[in-house]
Amino acid sequence: MEAIFPLLTIVLYDLIIIGLLYIIKYAMECLHRKKEPVLGFGVDLFTFEEALQYVHTCLKENNGMQIVTINPEMISLGNKDKEFAAVLNNADLVIPDGVGVKIALKIKGISQENIPGIEFSKKLIGMCELEGFSIGLIGAKEEVIQKAVQNIRKEHANLNITYIRNGYFDEEQEKIIVEELKAVSPRVLFVALGAPKQELFISKLKPQMPNTVFIGVGGSFDVWSGMVKRAPKIYQTLGLEWLYRTVKEPARFKRIFPALPLFLIQVIIEAIHENLVK
Ligand code: UDP
Repeated sequence: MEAIFPLLTIVLYDLIIIGLLYIIKYAMECLHRKKEPVLGFGVDLFTFEEALQYVHTCLKENNGMQIVTINPEMISLGNKDKEFAAVLNNADLVIPDGVGVKIALKIKGISQENIPGIEFSKKLIGMCELEGFSIGLIGAKEEVIQKAVQNIRKEHANLNITYIRNGYFDEEQEKIIVEELKAVSPRVLFVALGAPKQELFISKLKPQMPNTVFIGVGGSFDVWSGMVKRAPKIYQTLGLEWLYRTVKEPARFKRIFPALPLFLIQVIIEAIHENLVK
């Protein structure tokens, strides 16, 4: 009994030291990490590379997370819908997707690089191929996801794709999908159901798949399949990709107007208010 006591003390000390090291590491990450609220929703002020590195660390440590690629439509919806707001607030990484959030941050005096979700996801796929992390893809129409997967495989021959499913399913089928996903447990799951559906779907899955990194990718599979073209580079550079998409798909008009101008007016009011109370 007496011999065990010093051994237990050593183990206890070791555990305390490991715990302290973890706390220091976490604190360092928090210190480095900056978040800025835009109309009540925190946006991570990472560069593209930093955000990618953040996800890489998470994958290496066998952790999971929910990544949200946030845009003004999602912020406006979050301000109307409590359930969606809670999901946005609980996300582990919120990256600014599109020029709207970039302008909003600029109004608040912050220069932030735009991180298009589709480009971020493409880099993530490259990283998964390189590091051997398995991936899953769910969303879009059957022929779209099949073609997208075919194109991804052409470009990433060593990628381990463990789950492929179209995005049209009812509640009963969803239960089966959840079980299938839990069984294969891809390290990264790309979900293309459009916002807010994909974020709500991910938030339900997240507690059941703690080692998976989830990202909602909207219409990315349509682009990867080759069936939808991204805006030409000049539109992307000028931050006018939304205009191109609206002209191509006029049905999008009512999603953007009056939401986008209203969003910017609210951001200006928020920035003035913040300056007054400083
Ligand atoms: N989608 C789906 N299931 C649904 C609704 C939508 O798989 O129940 C897919 C749809 O086929 C498309 C994507 O979700 O591939 C939504 O694309 P959208 O361009 O609307 O998304 P955004 O990029 O604007 O968020």
